[in-house]
Parts: sequence; structure tokens; C-alpha cells
Amino acid sequence: MIITFRTKILIAIGIFLGVAAVAIILVLHFTPRIPPDDCTEPGQIEIHPTPETSPKPYIKWAQFDVPYDILLKAYNYDTKSYGTDIHYNWIELLSYAVAKNYGNIDKKVAKNMDECVSLLKEGKTIDEITSNLKYYPFYHEVYNSILGGFLQDGALKVYSPIAKGYYFNHYEDFGNVRSYGYNRKHLGNDLLGSVGTPIIAVEDGTIEAMGWNQFGGWRVGIRSGDGRRYYYYAHLRKDHPFNNKFKVGDTVKAGEVVGYLGRSGYSAKEGVNNIDTPHLHFGLQLIFDESQKEGNNQIWVDVYNIVNLLNKNRSEVIYDEPTKEWNKK
Ligand SMILES: [Zn+2]
Repeated sequence: MIITFRTKILIAIGIFLGVAAVAIILVLHFTPRIPPDDCTEPGQIEIHPTPETSPKPYIKWAQFDVPYDILLKAYNYDTKSYGTDIHYNWIELLSYAVAKNYGNIDKKVAKNMDECVSLLKEGKTIDEITSNLKYYPFYHEVYNSILGGFLQDGALKVYSPIAKGYYFNHYEDFGNVRSYGYNRKHLGNDLLGSVGTPIIAVEDGTIEAMGWNQFGGWRVGIRSGDGRRYYYYAHLRKDHPFNNKFKVGDTVKAGEVVGYLGRSGYSAKEGVNNIDTPHLHFGLQLIFDESQKEGNNQIWVDVYNIVNLLNKNRSEVIYDEPTKEWNKK
């Protein structure tokens, strides 16, 4: 076969086009492609949060179901050992006892607590004892958030929300159904007493809320100094609900009178008594992250046994005629 000059030219063009096509395909294949929605320029990467400023993980849910006898046992170990060679920290004992039992509350918890005390007595440190307890850090953070400010120098420095000398009655009512407005759970403890009973600030803190709330009526909200606890006192007296020496933003000391027991609430209108039985609704909210203060992520814990413990320290009050207020003696 005779290959003409024209055929040679066509073959040469064909080979050239083939090589060019392969080259184009290879170049396209290895060129890094930037996703259309990624507008990040390399220079901006440093500006965005580094690991140090990224949001830290925080506890999303917690409960307090420690029975009173266990709470008291830990409290006694702590307060009685204060000032001796080995001081047992009640929050550490409780955290160990519950974490060792995988969060289950049963008879083993008390035994675990005694076991923890024996190990500490032998000279072991709490870090050594708990190094293999997976749930210890969680329970320690939760219990420390609730009870962390309770003891100082081996004594209870927080107060019952009901003043000394005033009768009140309460029962385990956390989680009961409430139907005013909408079906919901009762997130506190109702302390039944007489209208006008002085209501006490449990802990030092700052008044964050003082005024009317449809559900709580006249209510006071006090935040602890570390920001972790929000104490909620609701259904205060209709006509003279608050101690008038306080306003939102003020700091209060544990034991001071912040208001008076009543039956206000369950009304969108201010100053209405729609609660049948006079009582203080006492609630405790835990805040591990500020996003949990409002909205659907709130954590309220059962304070029934805490109220029982706080009964050990009632604030004595005296009446001041000129201001018509009760104050801490
Ligand atoms: Zn209530």
C-alpha cells in the first residue's frame, strides 16, 4: 500500500489531537477543585476559632436522686472529719459511691461510701481511688455544681428557704404533672406554709429576676456567684411580695429575707392570686452553659432532699416596723 503524503499529514494530525486530548484530561484530573460553596481564603483560616476558643463540651442533662440518708451520711463524714488528719470531702464520697454503682441508687451506694472512706484512711488519694471509675468525673461535676457552695469550714453555710420559727410542710412532688397552661412536669418542690412567711436566700448571689411571671406569679430568681445555680422562689404574697430593699442586679447574702410566701400566679395579669394553697415553689436550675438558662435545654433538679438538709440551718429574722419588712437578725 502506498501511503500518500496527504495520508501522512492526516495521521500526524490524528496523533497530535489524540495526545492533546489525553494531556487535557490528565491536567483536568489533577487540578485541585474548590467546592463552589467554600469561599475560605487561606489567609482567613487563622482568624476562625482555634481549639482553645472552640466551645467546650458541657453537661446536657443531669438529675439529683440521692436519697436523704445517703446525703446525710456524706454530710456527716465531711463535717465530722473537718479539721482532723484526714478530711473526707462529701462531694467526692457521693461521686465515688454513685459512680462505682454506675449511677444506680440502691443499698450498694452506702457500702461504696464506706469503702471509699476505708481507702482514704489507708492513705490512698481520691485521684488514685477514682482513676478507673469512668463515671466519676461526670458525677463529681454534677454534685459539685449542686452542693459545691454548701459547706465552708466544716459547717453548712447555706440556709433553708423558709425562715426560722415558721412551720412548713412538703412532700416529694418533683416531676408531678401540672396542667395550668399546658401539661408539664413540676420542676421544683412546694413548701406549704402561711401567707407572709419570710422567704430566705439559700445562698449568696445576684438577683436576676424580680417581678411577675404568668406561671410563678410574683417570683424572685437568684444566681449563685459561680453562675452554676439559679434559685427560683415563686407564688409570693400578692400585695407585698418582695423585700423592698432589693431590686434586680443587687447582690444578696445567704440568709437574707428576699420575699414573703403567698399564692400568686397562674394568671397573665399581674398581682392575681390563682393558687389555692399558699406555698412557696422552690426550684433549682443547673447551668453548665449559658445556653441552658432559657429555652428547651433547662436542667431543673429535685430539691426535696436538699430542702430536708437545709432544715439544719434556718435563718432567724426580725421585723422592722418603719419599713414593714422582715430582715435577717
Ligand atoms: Zn411548685
